[in-house]
Amino acid sequence: MKIKNIESIVKNKNCTGCGVCQLMCQTGAISFEEDCEGFKSPRIAASKCIGCGVCLRKCPSEVPVKRHSVKLGEFYIVQSKEHWKVKKSASGGVFYTIAKYFINELQGVVFGVAFDKDNIAKHIYTERLAELPKMQNSKYVQSDLGNSFKMVKKFLKDGRYVLFSGTPCQVAGLYAYLRKSEERLFTADIICHGVSSPRLLQKQIEEYSHLRKGKIQGIFFRHKHFLFPSESLFYMVMKVKYGLPIVRNPNDTPYFNIFLKGLGFRESCYNCQYANENRVGDFTMGDCDSHRLYPQFHPNESNSSLMLNSVKAKEMWNKKLHYLFDSQPLDIAKEIEYNKQLHSPSARPDIRDKIYCELQELPWGEFAKKYARQPTTVMKARSYLALVMPFFIIKVWSKRNEQKNI
Ligand SMILES: Cc1cc2nc3c(=O)[nH]c(=O)nc-3n(C[C@H](O)[C@H](O)[C@H](O)COP(=O)(O)OP(=O)(O)OC[C@H]3O[C@@H](n4cnc5c(N)ncnc54)[C@H](O)[C@@H]3O)c2cc1C
Repeated sequence: MKIKNIESIVKNKNCTGCGVCQLMCQTGAISFEEDCEGFKSPRIAASKCIGCGVCLRKCPSEVPVKRHSVKLGEFYIVQSKEHWKVKKSASGGVFYTIAKYFINELQGVVFGVAFDKDNIAKHIYTERLAELPKMQNSKYVQSDLGNSFKMVKKFLKDGRYVLFSGTPCQVAGLYAYLRKSEERLFTADIICHGVSSPRLLQKQIEEYSHLRKGKIQGIFFRHKHFLFPSESLFYMVMKVKYGLPIVRNPNDTPYFNIFLKGLGFRESCYNCQYANENRVGDFTMGDCDSHRLYPQFHPNESNSSLMLNSVKAKEMWNKKLHYLFDSQPLDIAKEIEYNKQLHSPSARPDIRDKIYCELQELPWGEFAKKYARQPTTVMKARSYLALVMPFFIIKVWSKRNEQKNI
């Protein structure tokens, strides 16, 4: 009979890659390596494994961590009062504003995701306001947690306030690692529809670097107009050292197209136990998808939804945080109806079986043709225009196109 171990979680496609098994293993038998798709997964060195089973007992996919019932939460549609500072944020700047409070008022430490100099999305921490912009804007790829959980533990031991933000499975991993609840730890999970492989993103970036004969120096997936209030558009923007940035409509770039259509997520994302209204974090942050029901609330801007799930999150909001936002109570039943990830995981398409094999086997040109539109010069120019045009013109433009298509 085969003994169940952490590799069975991987085989059953439930491993989220949180790394807790490796951190808990006393004999160093577990390492984390990239699998054939480019996601990090545990491997066991049989010679070192003593079969104690601690890896399984601590695995949040095997032993789920506690959730907060939606019935006890408070919910808001929010927009940060710091308009200019949150231009870089995906929606209403909820992360930046709460993080700033932790740094300035609580002398706390904030954990979030930033791209490093090689364009790899990594969890980092900061105690400095000047470093927060690196964590703003959603990096639509699985981040590398590095030694974040250990550092959270260390800062808590030193008596510091900590804000840890990440996907719900990462937040669950942190709780599984810490074992006990900590008064000074606040977690913020994002509403997440899935994460793609870092290797796929690297391939895409290498192609663009090659095309422009230079290193890509910044990647953004969400973009707001630099002058006017605007909704944030889904465009892939890559900065290069010289010349104009590369701007692509999501349909014209294989990586973003695959991501937004949910074709290449980590296997566990299609089976995500956190894609529902009962949340693991103290706070939940998302793009408010039911914003049309609040026409007077920052019209034509991307607003965030904020869920206050725990008692301490509600207390912090009522005492301090609410002063930092424009906010209005949110009908959570409607938001759940509109925001799919609050009621079910992304559906796994049949093409998922092939996508990463094809990434390995096909030359990039063929892969790109298969998974994205081939943009003409006019299409590329339109992508630039979309970013620099004031939002109300884009709206009129798209309305006209809609009417033409009827
Ligand atoms: C992979 C991914 C999928 C998402 N899917 C949805 C969705 O389906 N529906 C929805 O309503 N919202 C989704 N979001 C959340 C949304 O894009 C915003 O992050 C959120 O609304 C917070 O708003 P903000 O204006 O503060 O944004 P931002 O300033 O853009 O928020 C930044 C926050 O996101 C965290 N973050 C960024 N990239 C990652 C990453 N790769 N892994 C973990 N944390 C990360 C940062 O640490 C920071 O806490 C997703 C985010 C990510 C990263």
